[in-house]
Amino acid sequence: TSLHRLLAEQKAELFEQARRDPLTQLGNRLSLNEDLEVLSGRVERYGHSYCAVMCDIDYFKLYNDRYGHLSGDEVLRVVANTLIKYSRSGDAVYRYGGEEVLIIMPEQTLESATVAADLMCQAVEGLAIPHSTEETEGVLTISFGIATLSPGENKSIDAFLKEADTALYRAKETGRNRVVVYEATNEVS
Ligand code: GH3
Ligand code: MG
Ligand code: MG
Repeated sequence: TSLHRLLAEQKAELFEQARRDPLTQLGNRLSLNEDLEVLSGRVERYGHSYCAVMCDIDYFKLYNDRYGHLSGDEVLRVVANTLIKYSRSGDAVYRYGGEEVLIIMPEQTLESATVAADLMCQAVEGLAIPHSTEETEGVLTISFGIATLSPGENKSIDAFLKEADTALYRAKETGRNRVVVYEATNEVS
């Protein structure tokens, strides 16, 4: 009946809403955690591989301080849309934290993921969002850290994300507005 259909549609809509971040419309942590569960099974079972691209806006606290929190919110939306625009159809984009976005790219080599992240990095700089402070060079930028998860290496999902985060930290440390690929030697002892 049409009532049943209406209820089913509403249920699906609620399911969707619960998995989206309201500000950016990206996937939220719930959706990420569910997807990671599925993904981890696929690595060993089907031999799939993945890249994780951890993104973090540069000097975003200073942005809020200088331009206000509402402008900051708008920047988050614009940056999220830009990352989506430069993602491929199989990529999944999540709001990982406040101004952190995680992109999971299936079946991509480190090289192709790096190319994609480089394009995203340039695209955000190309938005030319004013960000002039003593620390910043005039426009808003973003940094990226990349790691891979492949069959047979016995890496946990946590370790996979941690590696992307370590690479991101390295990108911050070496000047921001750049893409860094994880290497074991990035590890701070
Ligand atoms: P870094 O270049 O090292 O990443 O510096 P940062 O200032 O970006 O990093 P930090 O972690 O110190 O600050 C993150 C800022 O992001 C602080 C917080 O106010 C802001 N932020 C987090 N979530 C939101 C949000 O939803 N809206 C706005 N406007 N700001 C947010
Ligand atoms: Mg951050
Ligand atoms: Mg930041």
